[in-house]
Amino acid sequence: MRDTTGLAYTPDIAAATQPIYERVKRVIPAVEWPFHAPLVHEINRLKGERNAVILAHNYQTPEIFHGVADIVGDSLALAARATETDADVIVLAGVHFMAETAKLLNPAKTVLIPDTGAGCSLAESITAADVRLLRERYPGVPVVAYVNTSADVKAEVDICCTSGNAVEVVESLGAPRVIMLPDEYLAKYVATQTSVEIIAWKGHCEVHERFTGDEIREFRGRFDELIVIAHPECPPDVLEAADFVGSTARMVDFVADRRPPRVLMVTECSMSDNVAAASPETEFVRPCNLCPHMKKITLANILDSLRTLEPQVTIAPEVADRARRSVERMLAVKPR
Ligand code: SF4
Repeated sequence: MRDTTGLAYTPDIAAATQPIYERVKRVIPAVEWPFHAPLVHEINRLKGERNAVILAHNYQTPEIFHGVADIVGDSLALAARATETDADVIVLAGVHFMAETAKLLNPAKTVLIPDTGAGCSLAESITAADVRLLRERYPGVPVVAYVNTSADVKAEVDICCTSGNAVEVVESLGAPRVIMLPDEYLAKYVATQTSVEIIAWKGHCEVHERFTGDEIREFRGRFDELIVIAHPECPPDVLEAADFVGSTARMVDFVADRRPPRVLMVTECSMSDNVAAASPETEFVRPCNLCPHMKKITLANILDSLRTLEPQVTIAPEVADRARRSVERMLAVKPR
């Protein structure tokens, strides 16, 4: 249990955090707010003292996403916005590869990851040695790495991509064949969107691979007028059963633009809560698959990180320079 002693839900804290609670009241019961509010209040105070910003991925819980984050979004948005901050300290409320990406783009800043055990099944599915073997097997074929990879892997590839820009990145290389790693399902989805031949690795997201096409059809049978929007890390039969496929940022835009009456978001569960908090006219049907790595980040360990300025993300300089080049090449690709 992290040390949060001395924090209590006082009338002053209740009043100060009321505007934040207004934003999350659809998804956080009133009985739970007294547990979150003192932490939210103290984190927001300490951010000013430390000149810190908190970057939160769309899969973070609502008390983090709406309560303390300064910048929210998918991996692409977080990577891009990380370059714009003039804060001295960046706290990454997400998983380890995201914190590494923030450090690559801000080498002079202190980058904190509140729990170093917040990993990712995709990032862990491939090593730098695997990439070198792929290059030997497919000489001259460019290699694209999903940002869900370690800095060691990013250092070995030609360019990075996210689910939001993967097709544009692949086509920007001007090659007839491209190796795309580590997500097999994202690579298969990209292959349906381009004439470039895609060679895939067999990594999977442990959250998205659990969804099935049968599950989607079952939800359609139970709910009228259900619009299904799915993340491209899902298996192909899920994407075939969906009405729309896109990154988490494109899912957010889809709901904001179309305002469907009822939506099934086929992605990590907290994302539906975060979008639901801002979309009162839409009913969200939740097939709840949680990412155990994302859920290692809590208000308590964010506060602990800000107090101690630990754990810090470090990357060996010889790896960082090459990995940074792969991320910066991605950021230079223009969206369509
Ligand atoms: S949801 Fe999947 S891809 Fe995202 S961090 Fe968790 S395991 Fe990795």
